[in-house]
Amino acid sequence: MTTATGGTMVTSEEAEARRRGLMLVLSSPSGAGKSTIARQLLDQETNLKLSVSVTTRPRRSSEIDGVHYHFISRERFEQMRDRGELLEWAEVHGNYYGTPRDPVEEALGLGQDVLFDIDIQGTFQLYEAVRPDVVSLFILPPSIAEMKSRLHRRAEDAEDVIQRRLKTAVGEMKHWNEYDYVIINDDLQRAYDGARSILRAERLRRERSPAIGPFIEGMVEDLKRETGED
Ligand code: 5GP
Repeated sequence: MTTATGGTMVTSEEAEARRRGLMLVLSSPSGAGKSTIARQLLDQETNLKLSVSVTTRPRRSSEIDGVHYHFISRERFEQMRDRGELLEWAEVHGNYYGTPRDPVEEALGLGQDVLFDIDIQGTFQLYEAVRPDVVSLFILPPSIAEMKSRLHRRAEDAEDVIQRRLKTAVGEMKHWNEYDYVIINDDLQRAYDGARSILRAERLRRERSPAIGPFIEGMVEDLKRETGED
């Protein structure tokens, strides 16, 4: 659909394309099923890309360097952090994690949405820096028993690491009310549908579409011409 605004034509497709990308932040205690929801969103939603973090944590056997994380040394991490190359960073369970700045800014500028799997410390840093661009989702397990069983089923972390993750969860869960949305993952399909609905609704927010105003003004002008009304 095309309409005229003071000589410039703005199509509905352009109004959508000129939207600035949003930052969809998923946080949860370990074992809440966040990674599965993140993977499904990335597989099924177009125009959504993952922010691949850097970390000093050792790679798990199921992980691929450059896909799940960029696995780097502590020295390299500190260098990136000190040069301001990270949008946010945190120490989690004794390891460093951070979000490289450049790929995120590039994607947002192109109108792409970016998915972040980061902890609460990182989320708060994004709030400080770019709150209007952030949509935050906190995912909770249906029960502590289910959370423990997911961590054990995953069988990728040693028992002491699992215990540490459970301890961290206590502090993290207290912050549920600082997130825009909370999803209880008692049923994966339902939790996924909720996350997808949030993304789709947030994409349509008026303030994310700077071109929507000119598009509608153009339609109003067309309508005035049609009807002779002022
Ligand atoms: P995991 O070791 O299980 O992959 O991740 C541990 C925690 O670190 C998770 O809560 C995950 O969301 C968080 N995390 C992963 N990448 C980042 C990052 O770049 N920044 C921050 N702040 N947290 C991260």
